[in-house]
Amino acid sequence: MKDIASAIGVSAPALRELFRRDILRKAFISHPFFSDVLEAYKLDRKFGGFEEGTLIAKTVEGVEIVRGFPKIKRALTLYPTIKKHFKGDVAIEEKMNGYNVRIVKFGEKLYAITRGGFICPYTTEKVRLIFDKSFFKDHPNLMLCCEAVGEESPYVPSSIYGERLDFYVFDIRDKSTNEALSIKEKERICENYGFNMATIFDVVSSKIAHEVVRDVIEKIGKEGREGVVIKDVEMKEPPIKYTTSQANCSDLSYGFRYFGEYGKDFLFSRLIREGFQSWEFCESEENMYERALRIGKAILFSMVESIRNVKDRGKVYENMRLRFYDLEVFELFKEHVRRMGVSAKFSDPIQDEDGSYVVHYYKYMKSTTDIVKHILEGNLW
Ligand code: ATP
Repeated sequence: MKDIASAIGVSAPALRELFRRDILRKAFISHPFFSDVLEAYKLDRKFGGFEEGTLIAKTVEGVEIVRGFPKIKRALTLYPTIKKHFKGDVAIEEKMNGYNVRIVKFGEKLYAITRGGFICPYTTEKVRLIFDKSFFKDHPNLMLCCEAVGEESPYVPSSIYGERLDFYVFDIRDKSTNEALSIKEKERICENYGFNMATIFDVVSSKIAHEVVRDVIEKIGKEGREGVVIKDVEMKEPPIKYTTSQANCSDLSYGFRYFGEYGKDFLFSRLIREGFQSWEFCESEENMYERALRIGKAILFSMVESIRNVKDRGKVYENMRLRFYDLEVFELFKEHVRRMGVSAKFSDPIQDEDGSYVVHYYKYMKSTTDIVKHILEGNLW
């Protein structure tokens, strides 16, 4: 434990205090699948100079710190926000709708760390099949920050990016300092090593970026895509994000489907985004009416479906289709889900033509179920 304490610059008693206050928690499962990791802990909150989700791992090669992915602030209006925030040129990148993964190499194998700092067995299995290790051998200090997207996702399933889980690099950073490579360097590396990269729609002066972003947002919104992240081309200024109305509504639909699990802040903030966008885009009455309908449908349809589910089937579940290439990883993932405190059920694995196994993961939404049940029994709220 002494080496873990000194890696984050605290004394042994201070480290114990971090564990006692649940700021530091175990971040992996001891298993041969993770054989290069001897111990690993994650920061559940920002601490000192380290972001939430920072991983501190004792590996076969010594103690490694993998910094948490920094928070990206949101713009509610494009003008004058972008112009005020950036000075030079900016890259307008697609904000893909999946989950954040940092890929690193410890010892001889690759590891996938999710946003909160867990080493996820499901994601790690896919990363090891898709990525070759040469990039990490050439650049041992760098990590690939990717969006994991696809229908077969245990955290953010979305069919618009295809069926199987895939990875799109959006940042390349020094894993211990979090310093990001410039957009050009990122593009060069992705091309050299054949990595998928989040689409860069345009690189323009920050003075006119608000106009370009608006066009991009209107176009990709119609395709059901999430939004954009606007980045200083040198990656010296913090990026900002902006989302489409369709993405806000898809969040609202999800949030109201599981309204017991999702807080009022989650829902309210999305509604506010819609108000500012409608105002800034100077919508015609017809377009505003369309937006209102989209918001209303997102709220009502999903909520009624959850009520119906409780009435007809007694429970609200989120159902996700997953794929495992090794049943041992399936066992590890079940343990991982249990440790994350999720109440879940899994179908028996069914072998597919290519030898992989398809499993249904039912995530039980206890709070929504309990509230709906209580109300349907005639109780007051
Ligand atoms: P954050 O603290 O980063 O704001 P959040 O949970 O609110 O986290 P989001 O609103 O989804 O997250 O936006 C940030 C996330 O967007 C990043 O953590 C990353 O996973 C994802 N993302 C998708 N595409 C990109 C991209 N091109 N550049 C940066 N991040 C991207």
